[in-house]
Amino acid sequence: MILPIVKYGDPVLQNAGEDVNNIDGRLADFIGNMFETMYEAKGVGLAGPQVALSKKLFVMDVSSGKEAKDRIVCINPQIVETKGKVISEEGCLSFPGIYFEVERPEIVTVSAIDINGKEFTFEVNGIAARCVLHENDHINGKLFIEFLSPLKRDLLKRRIKKKIKLGEWE
Ligand SMILES: [Zn+2]
Repeated sequence: MILPIVKYGDPVLQNAGEDVNNIDGRLADFIGNMFETMYEAKGVGLAGPQVALSKKLFVMDVSSGKEAKDRIVCINPQIVETKGKVISEEGCLSFPGIYFEVERPEIVTVSAIDINGKEFTFEVNGIAARCVLHENDHINGKLFIEFLSPLKRDLLKRRIKKKIKLGEWE
C-alpha cells in the first residue's frame, strides 16, 4: 500500500519520534508499505515521521530495489561514530523539487534494531552514509533545511509558503 508522504509544513516532521517498543506484525506490514512508498516516490530513504508515524524508525535502499543487501530497516537507531566530511547535493521526499548542497560526515557507524528485533551495527559511506544521517535527523525532528544559512532558509520557507498557497506543494 502506498502511504501519503507528509510534506514540509506539517508539524509531525518537526517532532522527535518516540522509541519503538513493540515490533509486531502490524509494524512489519507498515514497514513493507514504507518501502513500497519510497520506491514509488523514487527515494532512497524514508523515515517514520514522513508517513505520519512519529517513531524512531526509517527504511533505506540506495540501490532502489536492485540489491537485497541494500534494503535496510533501522529501528531505534543510534549513530555510534562518524568520520570525515563531504559536501554533496541532497533532496528530501518531504520537500519536492528542492535540492541543495549539505556538508555531512563521510563515514557513519550505526547501531539499530532490525525487523526481527535483533540489534545490528553497520558502517556505510557515500550516499548510504548521507542517507542514514538524513533519515536519522528526520526521526529526531530535524530537517535538512536547518543546514542552510538563516537567510537562505527564510527565502526557501517563503518560496514554499507561496507554493502551498498556490496548491503547488505536492
Ligand atoms: Zn528527508
